[in-house]
Amino acid sequence: MTINSAKTSLAFNSLSLKKDLVKNLSSLGYEQMTPIQAQTLPEMLQGKDVIGEGKTGSGKTAAFGLALLDKLEVKRFRIQSLVLCPTRELADQVAKELRKLARAIHNIKILTLCGGTPFGPQIGSLEHGAHIIVGTPGRVEEHVIKGTLQLDNLNLLVLDEADRMLEMGFQAALDNIVERTPLDRQTLLFSATFPQQIQAISESIMTDPVMVKVASSENKSTISQSFYKVANDEERLDALRLLLLDKQVESTVIFCNTKKETQQVADSLHFDGFSVLALHGDLEQRDRDQTLLRFANKSASILVATDVAARGLDIDSLDLVINYHIARDSEVHVHRIGRTGRAGSTGLAFSLYSDKESYKVGLLEDYLEAVITPELLPSEAVLANERPQAKMATIQIDGGKKQKVRPGDILGALTGDNGVQGNQVGKISVLDNKAYVAVTKGALKLALRKLAKGKMKGRSFKVRHLTV
Ligand code: AMP
Repeated sequence: MTINSAKTSLAFNSLSLKKDLVKNLSSLGYEQMTPIQAQTLPEMLQGKDVIGEGKTGSGKTAAFGLALLDKLEVKRFRIQSLVLCPTRELADQVAKELRKLARAIHNIKILTLCGGTPFGPQIGSLEHGAHIIVGTPGRVEEHVIKGTLQLDNLNLLVLDEADRMLEMGFQAALDNIVERTPLDRQTLLFSATFPQQIQAISESIMTDPVMVKVASSENKSTISQSFYKVANDEERLDALRLLLLDKQVESTVIFCNTKKETQQVADSLHFDGFSVLALHGDLEQRDRDQTLLRFANKSASILVATDVAARGLDIDSLDLVINYHIARDSEVHVHRIGRTGRAGSTGLAFSLYSDKESYKVGLLEDYLEAVITPELLPSEAVLANERPQAKMATIQIDGGKKQKVRPGDILGALTGDNGVQGNQVGKISVLDNKAYVAVTKGALKLALRKLAKGKMKGRSFKVRHLTV
């Protein structure tokens, strides 16, 4: 294995990428390569197997996405690349980014195959053919075993967030899938952490891989970390309240180590008047999708989540990350707090710990090469503060892509004819059979009326306000 850490040019046109791909990048506003792109792309474009340290926010998706699209022969209508992701949310995000990158090349067919959605329609879509599959290991494995997905023509395999896939118990599924792919394929592996298992899997499925380690993308100076010591779980919850009421920020993610605790903390904050949603694997896929969407469009100010469930969260402006307990391992801690303070903004990260977790704080000190001293919690006077409220509300529309509803139709119905102001409308997300639009709370009543009465695509759709 070779280690690559050399500095390279940051211009996309310094690469041997297809011209159309490069042109499209500037229209996407990608002016220059991120460090992971600069270091992996030249190797990947040469056809080498690459192991990349791929954290969310590093631009890793575009890194392997560009290599994949460059290699693709559109005229050969066969499955040529497969991207495996730990969760459906991430698979959806990856497919979305690939579609953006592929805009300049016509007729590329990308298909997502994930669990939690009906099997039958996926078989139908597979019969129509595709160039690229993005999916979760369990469901992709089912298809390859049943013979509904054939990988004989595959020449590129990507394992995205490989550490998570292994953590989630997908090793056997991965083995089953890889076994059915040609040996001379190119294999790319991205992972935020590098436990022993990653080493083992890379040795068994990759050929002389190039290892790319990028200096930590979390710029320490833009994340301000504080640690607070608590005596027991009751005090932990009180401490959480004090911190939330003291800071009064717009978007906070609270990480819990178990599903049960995630729900308990969310319930307790909800009872206490906070605008909060819970996200964990025991929820139905549909509810998880809605939760992610509502938090991302600012219809809730707090999200309590497990690490795995929060993977699909794609938010640029997270103000605060709170570790309700110290994460099980130091790399996970750094990954959690890296979700705040992105893109030059200053982020806050608070961690609560008790005596029992002191050894983890010790491990973190070694890992961060810093001395951690607990700080004082805000005084109880902050309990009189208002609970920070979300400024937006989400309206669900019972019509989506299948009913040919487009974002423009929704915006038109909302703003036309004495409707709401354009600046009162937030994110619009159109899914297969449903659409969601965020509006400012002040405009909610009018927006509901406009959407219920107005027509989209010549017909009216049922609408409702999604409440916590
Ligand atoms: P990822 O780490 O793949 O989740 O990407 C994080 C975000 O960075 C995504 O929203 C990408 O669209 C964006 N992105 C990726 N590459 C670039 C680039 N070279 N310049 C600007 N933005 C980028």
